[in-house]
Amino acid sequence: MKKTVILFFPLLESNNVASNVPYALLYLERMIRHLEINIILIDERLTKDYEKIIEDNANNLLFAGVSSMIGYQITGAIKFSKKVKSVSSSPIIWGGWFPTVFPEMILKENYVDYICIGQGEIPFQMFTEHLLNQKNVDEINGIGYKTNNELKINFASKLSNPINYPKINFDLIDINALINYNGKVETGFRGIDYIATLGCPHNCAFCNLVYIFGRSWFPKEVSEIITDLKYFKSKYDISYVSFSDDNFFANKKFILELCNSIIDSELNIDWEANANPNSFLKTFSDEDINIINKSGCKKIKIGAESGDQEILDLINKKTFVKNNLEIVRKLKKHNIDIRYFTMVCFPINPDKDFKMTLNLIGKAKLINRNLDVNINLFKPIPKTELYDLCLKHGFKYPKNTDDLIVFFANKFTAPWYKSDYHKQLDDFINFYLPFTNPFFFMKFPLKLRLFAFILNIVIYPILFLRIKLNFMKFPFEARLFKKIISSGLDNNYLNSVSTFKSRN
Ligand code: SF4
Repeated sequence: MKKTVILFFPLLESNNVASNVPYALLYLERMIRHLEINIILIDERLTKDYEKIIEDNANNLLFAGVSSMIGYQITGAIKFSKKVKSVSSSPIIWGGWFPTVFPEMILKENYVDYICIGQGEIPFQMFTEHLLNQKNVDEINGIGYKTNNELKINFASKLSNPINYPKINFDLIDINALINYNGKVETGFRGIDYIATLGCPHNCAFCNLVYIFGRSWFPKEVSEIITDLKYFKSKYDISYVSFSDDNFFANKKFILELCNSIIDSELNIDWEANANPNSFLKTFSDEDINIINKSGCKKIKIGAESGDQEILDLINKKTFVKNNLEIVRKLKKHNIDIRYFTMVCFPINPDKDFKMTLNLIGKAKLINRNLDVNINLFKPIPKTELYDLCLKHGFKYPKNTDDLIVFFANKFTAPWYKSDYHKQLDDFINFYLPFTNPFFFMKFPLKLRLFAFILNIVIYPILFLRIKLNFMKFPFEARLFKKIISSGLDNNYLNSVSTFKSRN
């Protein structure tokens, strides 16, 4: 009987809403498919009762692998690992962002034997080959292990261009089940996430991409991307692609070649992708943006980060606050919407950046009422430049995995946070921001639309002035509105104003 390897992708969120493709599993499978082994891929969203699979394969298990990001995924990854340990003595290896950023913390746990850090494909391939041939894995770059209660972590391997790796096999995942995960999705709204490039040439001080990829950026061949998109279109009837690359627009030649190929191949899809605001403005002319738009680009997700120039400098974003507004104006001319990704409350002067960032968002919303925004409280991540600064300001990360899970499950806080930041954000996200759109009343159910219409007319000029003057003190109208809503007028209201929606 062939030896078996089980690779596990835990739930991303407790409420299961994300329906993205589990690329981590597909990236690893391609590296070991040439070996004489049986590979089982488990996505916890699609195979909730995976315990039976583990039990059935326990006697023949070469090893089990888990991919985990920092956050909720850790919970499912631990549950899976403990189950494997309860029925098998085979080793367990963890890979992904979590072990890369917290290698010692996870390696200490008795349900983990090895970790794979950094760009995982090559170390993982060598690890599998060594175990299969009963060779010692201790010298493999990018692998961590423990011996005599000592933790040993080998430096990550040199970066290699994934273009040289075997192509991933999408047929190994039930893509239809993922697309329909949150309910059946009708033709015209079926979407998929796709990764066309890896890495990013920038080095923002809060981002640990630079720790893994240096400042390298690896695009796929345009022909391969087009082949994949055609395949999704014909097999899964998709009409929307969310490119989830960290910096999709990093190279002008690549983007224009890809956009022209999408146009020439008459794919007829809509799409969205991430961009760095400064480099996008510098790189793409109006003529280029016409091509980008013609190929189906409907939304660009911008790492706007902050409305405070001092913070943009601190995080080494190499951009100006005015660029964050300029890009909204420019893309509006081309009928391309924007989603801002922002962070508030950095340790040096949190009141200032909080106020200026909300004001930036308000101003951008006045330029394009379709602006969508994701506002995060700044969270320091180990192995980034800003992490040390946060330690100096009294920030303490949990020391073990159990505490880390509790830490992520609770409302995030830091020594420099004021308790009412959460309240102010609540007012801004659930009241001020949506009502900055003069047509927001259209989102209300019919029975409430007249009420919302009147409210919109009354509130809009007040909000306009508040944003122009950057004056958000005494939020009486937000609190009054909240009282009305919480009195049961419309329990669905908060869902309707969600600032972060995905297409499927
Ligand atoms: S531009 Fe984005 S992906 Fe690139 S280093 Fe900065 S935050 Fe990270």
